[in-house]
Amino acid sequence: MAGSGVPWAGYGYTGSRSRLHGVHRCDVAIVGAGLTGLSTALELVGLDPDLRIAVVEADHVAAGASGRGTGLLGPRIGPRVAVARRRYGDDVARASYLWSVDAVRHVLDLVERHRISCDLTPGGQLVVASDEEGAEAQQREADAARILGLPIALVPAGSLPAVARHYTSGLRYAPAATLDPAALTDQLARLGEQRGVTIFERSVVRGIRRGLLTTVSTDDGALVADHVVVAVNAFGADLKAPAGVVGLRVQAGVTEKLSPEAIEALDGLRAEPLIEHGELSPYFRLTSDGRIVVGGGAVLRGPFGSVAPAPEKLRSAVRRLSPALSEVDIESTWAGPVGMTRDGLPIVGRHPDDPRLYYAGGCNGHGLAASIYHGAHLARWIVDEGADHLSFALPWVRSKAPWVPRGRLVERVLDRYLAHLTAASDRSGGAGRSRNDRWTGQGIHA
Ligand SMILES: Cc1cc2nc3c(=O)[nH]c(=O)nc-3n(C[C@H](O)[C@H](O)[C@H](O)COP(=O)(O)OP(=O)(O)OC[C@H]3O[C@@H](n4cnc5c(N)ncnc54)[C@H](O)[C@@H]3O)c2cc1C
Repeated sequence: MAGSGVPWAGYGYTGSRSRLHGVHRCDVAIVGAGLTGLSTALELVGLDPDLRIAVVEADHVAAGASGRGTGLLGPRIGPRVAVARRRYGDDVARASYLWSVDAVRHVLDLVERHRISCDLTPGGQLVVASDEEGAEAQQREADAARILGLPIALVPAGSLPAVARHYTSGLRYAPAATLDPAALTDQLARLGEQRGVTIFERSVVRGIRRGLLTTVSTDDGALVADHVVVAVNAFGADLKAPAGVVGLRVQAGVTEKLSPEAIEALDGLRAEPLIEHGELSPYFRLTSDGRIVVGGGAVLRGPFGSVAPAPEKLRSAVRRLSPALSEVDIESTWAGPVGMTRDGLPIVGRHPDDPRLYYAGGCNGHGLAASIYHGAHLARWIVDEGADHLSFALPWVRSKAPWVPRGRLVERVLDRYLAHLTAASDRSGGAGRSRNDRWTGQGIHA
């Protein structure tokens, strides 16, 4: 995870995939070798093995969010169900949540079908509230879920597992799992290559020219394609697409190996990760080799750079979790890019004037399942040319997200907002809350 923080500097990569040189003709060109782009490629060759598919990546496979995630695979997309009911109505709120459940199932099936070795551990996901206000919000969410018939279970304080005893309530989400996202991304790339997909690395796409065929240009070469998928997530600004996605960096870390006694004291965390309710709040999962992966607590503007802005927050979050962890240290930390939108929903769709230019991204820090599932949908879209597989009123099927102004002034406003979030998370000892759902709807990560 160590890196220089310099855009496209290679993050210490020593692989051997070649750069894009010269002009290549292909059926589908995919920009970005993260989960979205690689899942699209793999699904495409599964649907039509004769397709010529090329992926072009600025850095290396899994250089973006996909290689730096914390591996919590779970349902939920966009705003909380109670908010989604108000904004979009019951039918859309229900369809959206169930889509996110299908997304998780799709990933579980993908991993099993291809026997992908990524440390996948199925289970639930427990989101916990640390005060009465949080418990009330969880009650409202459980009520909304009950009205819509969604499988979200309220867990009263008395029934929380030992590791979560000091919280006031919980919501349990399923199906869910934990996994190693970097391993999964790497293996999607390899599976694609075994089936004929070409991946170019260290080739920054500088421009996309639309025409009868679309040309994707790098410094030393170009791909000329019938269809182009732009899967650059938080890095979209340079390619001017998709509009409305803002790149931010969030931090994560991993502890040293825990003692058997400490692991024993974390009863509950072995079965499911723990996510504190609220924006920037910490979340934890136990790895199979006995470490805690922890995220949350600080965020920076812009997608570039891999240094965690406030690693001490990660250490104190872990130490607060249980007295058995009071001496535990963080072994390494890192930051990674997330694509945020103002309404908390991602984007998957086509260019308004060019139905063969596709976008997907902006999952607001919760895109492990959604990115992979978006790839599957995009592949079907491309192969069936024009049939809208996602057209049943999901509000994130669109070519852009709500407008986000750009420029110095806005950057300053954004900085202040991020500082406010960080301060809120500090005041509540990690259980940061914000009533402001203009940016994330759901909270960064949880
Ligand atoms: C620290 C962290 C923790 C996270 N934890 C979780 C979690 O526990 N659960 C969860 O659901 N989600 C999590 N996420 C979010 C999840 O990782 C992302 O939603 C998902 O990986 C996005 O995949 P992607 O392929 O769309 O984007 P990315 O993985 O970012 O891929 C985009 C790729 O495009 C490339 N690129 C960009 N510009 C260009 C260009 N001009 N030319 C060529 N290539 C370009 C980039 O180098 C990059 O490789 C986390 C994210 C981070 C950063």
